Amino acid sequence: MAVIRFSLLLVFVLRLGADVSKCACDPAKPETMEARECGLCREAERHPAGEEFFVLKDINPRKPGRWLVLPRAHHPGPHALHEMPKAERDRLWRFAIATAREKFGADWALAYNGWKVRTQCHMHLHVGKFIRAAENSNFKLVRRLEDFPAPADGGVWIHPVPGGFHVHTGEEIMETALVR
Ligand SMILES: [Zn+2]
Ligand SMILES: [Zn+2]
Ligand SMILES: [Zn+2]
Repeated sequence: MAVIRFSLLLVFVLRLGADVSKCACDPAKPETMEARECGLCREAERHPAGEEFFVLKDINPRKPGRWLVLPRAHHPGPHALHEMPKAERDRLWRFAIATAREKFGADWALAYNGWKVRTQCHMHLHVGKFIRAAENSNFKLVRRLEDFPAPADGGVWIHPVPGGFHVHTGEEIMETALVR
């Protein structure tokens, strides 16, 4: 119980620490991207304009087994998944799945944390090895990535199963299903 209370407190502190929903970063005005929560926006700006998506090693030393997949383009405010145009979202998932397979074979998982709990505004998917013990019943079996949902609230985590993918939703922090 103490552990649960501690982690709830931590989530609360993280939420106080950075509210990316009000981010006003604008790539046309570099001075608007100097905030700590816009670090991944600045990273995206370092990539050539023609590169639609890119892969980044997670720089957190406590997550040595993690990568991030990010779009080069920016979206307003918290760069929310449901606000990304559908065709771009499909290409992002396709690129992320290919990256995850290349790094982890059949044992991959992808996670998108809800924008309310993110500490970085720029859209990013977490790529890692799937923790089997994290499996739960809160999923939909989806056959094609074109049918992945984009909830306005909460996050998404995805892992492959025979015949398609499990798409898990209903929580904000989803990256805990991935090995750090
Ligand atoms: Zn920002
Ligand atoms: Zn951005
Ligand atoms: Zn599952």
